[in-house]
Amino acid sequence: MRISRCGQRLCVFLVSLILAACGGSSGSSRSPSSQSSVISSSSSSVSSSSSSSSSISSSSSSSASSTNPVTSIVPISVSGNQILFDGQPGSIAGPSLFWSNNGWGGEKFYTEEVVTWVKQDWNAGLIRASMGVEDQGGYIQFPADNKAKVKRVVEAAIANDLYVIIDWHSHRAENNLQAAIDFFTDMAQTYGEYDHVIYEIYNEPLNPEAMGKSTSAEAWSQVVKPYAEAVIAAIRAVDPDNLIIVGSPTWSQDVDVAASNPISGYDNIAYTLHFYAGTHRQYLRDKARAALDKGVALFVTEWGGVEASGDGQVDVGETLLWMDFMREHNLSHANWALNDKSEGASALKPGASPLGNWTDSDLTASGLLVKDIIKNW
Ligand code: MG
Repeated sequence: MRISRCGQRLCVFLVSLILAACGGSSGSSRSPSSQSSVISSSSSSVSSSSSSSSSISSSSSSSASSTNPVTSIVPISVSGNQILFDGQPGSIAGPSLFWSNNGWGGEKFYTEEVVTWVKQDWNAGLIRASMGVEDQGGYIQFPADNKAKVKRVVEAAIANDLYVIIDWHSHRAENNLQAAIDFFTDMAQTYGEYDHVIYEIYNEPLNPEAMGKSTSAEAWSQVVKPYAEAVIAAIRAVDPDNLIIVGSPTWSQDVDVAASNPISGYDNIAYTLHFYAGTHRQYLRDKARAALDKGVALFVTEWGGVEASGDGQVDVGETLLWMDFMREHNLSHANWALNDKSEGASALKPGASPLGNWTDSDLTASGLLVKDIIKNW
């Protein structure tokens, strides 16, 4: 059976059965924010969902995205807590590439062929280029290599009519502010005229303690927000309009804190929300709703169905609750990660081709579910 041809809810039920049979893998490195997780049963994944089939037109309470599927590249703007596509509410979905760092393994998928494949076979609306910064093999150590990888993906996305997120994939971006300013100035000069391009200027700030702050409000106002304002000013000096996405403390979970003291003076600013469904549940949806209620726009530039470590089994039921939440609020999203590392979050099995052309047998349990979600978004 081809998973992409059945209804999403049926598909995820079947995937959940596969997951139950296969289990997860070990050895992870996504982030230091791992917490314990409880795996939901397949029955809860079915009963907890309110929508009945796979297409965007059938999804639940918010009519905006269901009546405005984004089918071409148009200018993105922000109005209140909504991200608009050519002036209309909507949302897009696609995969995130893994860290670009030299020698980490995920960089081999930064190819034109992969971008073309996820557009054609996954019906992806976006792809995220996650340029590692301060860690070994990243942009600070190898700027030309890492920039070249990002540019290859951006140019392939433009050629294939995909939106593309240029992600400064950092946990300590404030330590390299000038490098970020120089990099994004270059990206804005090169690509700012293309509606495809989205700037994500700080992937995941750490928790307040790691920044020497006692509260998230302090970490935001004294560390992350000043960094963001400086990078935004540099981008806006070149590119007046493309969407800029800002991180928040606690691995981009404290969107409610940022929303209480938002960046002002610039148009088309949104805040990234990151979740891992095996760890982050209703409490984080409540924080997201609080941020929306305060009037800021959100974009889920990174999510996983597994635990926050990037490993473990896919929590199908909780993932579907998140999908319903994102449809309800027109939240666009990118799944972590399009990579073949042996860990739960990887969409690809070890050894998958860096040229695309994957069959379903090349996809992991997470990859099968994610492809189905993206294809039917
Ligand atoms: Mg522009």
